[in-house]
Amino acid sequence: MTECDVFIIGGGPAGSIAAAKLVQAGYSVEVVEKVKFPRFVIGESLLPRCNELLENANMLEAVETAGFQYKGGVAFENENNDIKVINFENNMGQKHNSSFQVRRETFDNLLLEEAIRFGANVTTESEVTAYDEEANIVTVIHKDGSKEKYHAKKVIDASGYGRVLPRLLDLDSNSHLALRDAIFCRVENDLRPTDGTDGYIYVDVVGENDAWIWNIPLSPTVTSVGIVCTDEYYRSFNMDQEAFWNHIVKNDPHASKRYAHATRINEVGFIGGYSSNVKRMFGKNFVMVGNATEFLDPVFSSGVTLALESGSKAAELTIKELKGEAVDWQVDYQDYMMIGVDVFREYVEAWYDGRLQGILFSQAPGSTKIESKIVSVLSGYVWDTKNMFVTTPTHAVNATYKALTGKDPHS
Ligand SMILES: Cc1cc2nc3c(=O)[nH]c(=O)nc-3n(C[C@H](O)[C@H](O)[C@H](O)COP(=O)(O)OP(=O)(O)OC[C@H]3O[C@@H](n4cnc5c(N)ncnc54)[C@H](O)[C@@H]3O)c2cc1C
Repeated sequence: MTECDVFIIGGGPAGSIAAAKLVQAGYSVEVVEKVKFPRFVIGESLLPRCNELLENANMLEAVETAGFQYKGGVAFENENNDIKVINFENNMGQKHNSSFQVRRETFDNLLLEEAIRFGANVTTESEVTAYDEEANIVTVIHKDGSKEKYHAKKVIDASGYGRVLPRLLDLDSNSHLALRDAIFCRVENDLRPTDGTDGYIYVDVVGENDAWIWNIPLSPTVTSVGIVCTDEYYRSFNMDQEAFWNHIVKNDPHASKRYAHATRINEVGFIGGYSSNVKRMFGKNFVMVGNATEFLDPVFSSGVTLALESGSKAAELTIKELKGEAVDWQVDYQDYMMIGVDVFREYVEAWYDGRLQGILFSQAPGSTKIESKIVSVLSGYVWDTKNMFVTTPTHAVNATYKALTGKDPHS
């Protein structure tokens, strides 16, 4: 039996930041990761809040010096081909007002290396297969087939799409969001915007709001291009994923120009029905972080932000608990995380039902104060109690929509 203070399942961003914080506080940490790193995972566009969280964990310097593509904001294009640019520097005054677009294989590997540098013990190509909640013992099968048991004071499940504890403890629950698919690949030599937004993510609505395309520049020449739509819409084309990707890109006004002379540099990938949820985020001896808990939707690039936030928060609370201080995991962790998740959920719903597009593309003279509050949310500052778009998201979105468009929300 291997003993440690904290056992972490998975070495993605949520697991790495938790490990880094715990070992820097003096605790012994074992991270067990199923696959060999570097490994690909989807989710390449970060938010400024990530920079703040990485800075708090002493990991920002490594990210800043790694040469990732600078991201200053978001450009949205609607079905009428109007363009709205969101500059992160127009936030409510938060310190971090830019972020990065990252190849996740490089970014995640860097964070895991940082956790190792701080003192975490990381074992890759080893899979967590069982968990005894009462005894807090985790079973791992290593690459060579050998079995090892770990006993920890706390277990943190950061297994992302693997959803290890939700599956083993029957904690999975259905997401209330519509099932959507993503069809994506990387291309080289696309034609970038020339108005200074070339490093921004470009979110482009397809047809009459049938789908949207993410355009994420990863370097001066390589761009990630993904199409997001309902499964019903994708199936209606009766095409395989590559034919569908080619068809949509060829027929969309923005994409057809941008990718006219670009070359695809990898296979077209597919992820279906990606939204997920859990019945609860913690138990007596464990806590779940990142995508192992809830994943909403890629439209506002919130996934890694929530993964880093929950990994950080879980580590901070675990440190308190290990010091013998009282922690109310419901209030201090789950309720706290749900504040940010619920703000993003409101924005995701408002994007798909048209309210947010109504606000972003309104021709009415907008208030810069309101805009800065929306920019802050889109920057990932979804726990800022000075922002009414955080404290009362539905009311703030609906009232702004009505004021700017003159229409009733949901009419
Ligand atoms: C279509 C799509 C687009 C997205 N775009 C964005 C975006 O632009 N920006 C953004 O911020 N987010 C985006 N996301 C979300 C992003 O992918 C995730 O939120 C993020 O990867 C979560 O990080 P994590 O650390 O929780 O999990 P992961 O990054 O998934 O890491 C979990 C790790 O756990 C390991 N693991 C799994 N099972 C086991 C096991 N049994 N034993 C040991 N290890 C195990 C895995 O191998 C993996 O390395 C997108 C998601 C989708 C579906």
